[in-house]
Amino acid sequence: MPNLAVALDLGGTQIRGALVDEAGAILARQVRRTPAREGADAVVAALAQVSRDAAAAAGTRPVVGIGLSAPGPLDAEKGIALATPTIAGFTDFPLARNLEAAAGLPVALENDGIAAAIGEWRFGAGRGKSHMVYVTVSTGIGGGAVVDGHVLRGRKGMATHIGHMTVMHGGELCVCGNHGCFEAYASGTAFLARARRLSMHRPDSALSGLNEALTGPEVFAAARDGDELACELVAEEATMLGLGFANLLHLYSPELIVVGGGMSSEFNALEAGILRAMRGAALAPFRDVPVVTAALGDNSGLSGAGAIAYQAFGTNGTRR
Ligand SMILES: [Zn+2]
Repeated sequence: MPNLAVALDLGGTQIRGALVDEAGAILARQVRRTPAREGADAVVAALAQVSRDAAAAAGTRPVVGIGLSAPGPLDAEKGIALATPTIAGFTDFPLARNLEAAAGLPVALENDGIAAAIGEWRFGAGRGKSHMVYVTVSTGIGGGAVVDGHVLRGRKGMATHIGHMTVMHGGELCVCGNHGCFEAYASGTAFLARARRLSMHRPDSALSGLNEALTGPEVFAAARDGDELACELVAEEATMLGLGFANLLHLYSPELIVVGGGMSSEFNALEAGILRAMRGAALAPFRDVPVVTAALGDNSGLSGAGAIAYQAFGTNGTRR
């Protein structure tokens, strides 16, 4: 009987869990809230519960272990969360070891950007490519790179923290505590903060007066209706993304850039502006590289986490 892996995708707001087979198919998917403010032990307990529920759904099929995608920075080699800003207690916290004890299965830990890149590379938009970059644009910005047919991990598995490329001296404050990060300009959070700030000074705009109630989808909807401020905000977002992507072209020379995360659902509105800015900033031989959306949607991380478990623990399952 073919083996299964437990895949867990830990985010600042949600834990996604599933069983994943070797072909990347997702079974028994579940979602629950991340107890992000309740401390590391509460997060481990929630992950272990999702893992047990998933493993129970495997029935008599062997489970090889857990692939865990988690927000960084983390030491993927040692299984340690180093300094995750969005989860309380994730400072030098031995996440893999604690989850192994709580869930009763071996755990392979991976940075979430790299895990999702692996998912898209093995099973999604980057299938069959030797060189690709995956970028997730949502609350923050993360990603992973496949170079020469290998996933780039770097020291401690910390490569490709794309969101924290510094793009501006003394610029906007980032969630990481630094100023001027790419994420502080081009993430969904940054987009919304800019929209809320500018809408206060533009009484002519449909966005005016919404202030803190304003949402990202509302800005895109207003842009589709021709609202001048909304169009400016979408254009600015596309430009910031495109400039960041030009850096990625120069660094990794990918065959394509794959965009995932919540912002990718508005890719139609952003695409032209992204390409204009990216190609404007790229050296001529890089300008033909396409930008596409993730094929697996919000399952990129789960599929990747499953692949990581098979890679770490082989395909000969050890029954719990
Ligand atoms: Zn930062």
